[in-house]
Amino acid sequence: MYVLKGKTVFAGIAIGRVNVLKKERSNVRRYRVENTAEELERLKIALESTDKELEALYEKALKEVGESGAMIFDVHRMMLQDQDYTDSIENIIRGQEVNSEFAVAVTSDNFAEMFSAMDDEYMKARAADIKDISERLISVLKGESGAAEDSEEPVILAAEDLSPSETVQLDKSRILAFVTKYGSSNSHTAILARTMSIPALIGVDFSEEIDGVTAIVDGIRGEIIIEPDAETLAKYRTMQKEEAEKKKLLKEMKGKETVTKSGRKIRLYSNIGGTGDLPAVLENDAEGIGLFRSEFLYLEKEDYPTEEEQFAAYKTVAESMAGKLVVIRTLDIGADKQIDYFGLDKEDNPALGYRAIRICLDRPEVFRTQLRALLRASAYGNIGIMFPMIISVDEVRRSKKYIEEISAELKASGIACGDPEIGVMIETPASVMISEELAKEVDFFSIGTNDLTQYTLAIDRQNLKLDSINDTHHPAILRMIKMVVENGHKHNTWVGICGELGADPELTKTFVEMGIDELSVSPNFILPLRKAIRSLE
Ligand code: PEP
Ligand code: MG
Repeated sequence: MYVLKGKTVFAGIAIGRVNVLKKERSNVRRYRVENTAEELERLKIALESTDKELEALYEKALKEVGESGAMIFDVHRMMLQDQDYTDSIENIIRGQEVNSEFAVAVTSDNFAEMFSAMDDEYMKARAADIKDISERLISVLKGESGAAEDSEEPVILAAEDLSPSETVQLDKSRILAFVTKYGSSNSHTAILARTMSIPALIGVDFSEEIDGVTAIVDGIRGEIIIEPDAETLAKYRTMQKEEAEKKKLLKEMKGKETVTKSGRKIRLYSNIGGTGDLPAVLENDAEGIGLFRSEFLYLEKEDYPTEEEQFAAYKTVAESMAGKLVVIRTLDIGADKQIDYFGLDKEDNPALGYRAIRICLDRPEVFRTQLRALLRASAYGNIGIMFPMIISVDEVRRSKKYIEEISAELKASGIACGDPEIGVMIETPASVMISEELAKEVDFFSIGTNDLTQYTLAIDRQNLKLDSINDTHHPAILRMIKMVVENGHKHNTWVGICGELGADPELTKTFVEMGIDELSVSPNFILPLRKAIRSLE
């Protein structure tokens, strides 16, 4: 077993036998022609037939991969009719009194070299197109069929390079993946691979010896594993199955409402750590963001992120979610999330120590910078601001006071600012017990079951030794959740769960029955949860 690296053109996993496409350039002989006028006529007819072939390929591609994928054959038709190209061929025939095949081959080499030498990546990629049309034209001149090789069983096709027409002519049901040595992600072959949704890698330096061996194309990591061992094969088969299941689910559940059979709507939101998670959020059709752990903006830096840096990140998320709710949690550091530049003292019990809202209320300059960034970003979408580790009404009132003050300041300076919903995390037993009072203060609750479980069961969430007694379904936790929902609803405060327990499929029914309004989970769990909720009464 060994691994070859490449660049992913289209992600996905394929397992199968490799078929190395041995493509020798059509053998072109040079010979003298007596009658160049006749030769030029032969070329003219061949050009017309090639054009017809390309037209047919366009129609085939249109049906299989749609307009954007088929367009390349229109481009090829234009290149074939290009005056410079045909002039060059005709001049060689006339000037050297040689056969058309040879004149086409020379023109092809000259033009391809010219394109390859260009700085522009797009133009560089056109070298492959010139070779492609020229090969086709030569085949027509020789009276050969332009069809590419095909194999019986579905294979991983490995080639030096694949021309667009070869790509589209291949029987899609027989190709598991493409692997090429050359080509660029801008080439039309790459574009076609993406449109055809076939895992594809380029820039893989393989040897012809891989012909016929079993391999795995891992388009996620950008590698091909040659002759995988049994364990690797089994691992990838499982991944492939999961991927297929996910794709099916995506198709089935995307765009559907998250609603029970009796019509109860549940907000299905996503947890994120930063803007890098947005593609997964959108791909999995999240209805909003229920927890943006803003501390990651601080963790990935060497110094405090500025107001502008934070504003840019919050604005990007708000805009990308296009009016859907984006709940951003204010800084939650301390405990397991330590940041050097904060200069915090070492503590005996950091989980019970100086952390989250306690730091923010103690260091107004840090809190104010974040709140200003959040309030400014709230003018660009639907932002909710959430405070972590709350244990008292006083903490909420003091935090809200900052928001009022900063909003007033911004408005007075003519800086746009929205009117965000305000919420708190319920992750301490204290906040559960005073949830009725807290509900009067805020628009929403989000239950952080990760910390709530650690503080309720007195089990350090970091301590692996205690994993076996860490009962996440403990009745104490479930009763607390129920209590929070009831207290929240008494005062029109909507209630969600953003801890890991929210994605536990064994509890989905229980949560819905308790009256939970929202579940915020990692992007991958959204569609399976939507499916589960839609099957509930
Ligand atoms: C939680 O405690 O459940 C939570 C969602 O916050 P974090 O995991 O970031 O502490
Ligand atoms: Mg927490």
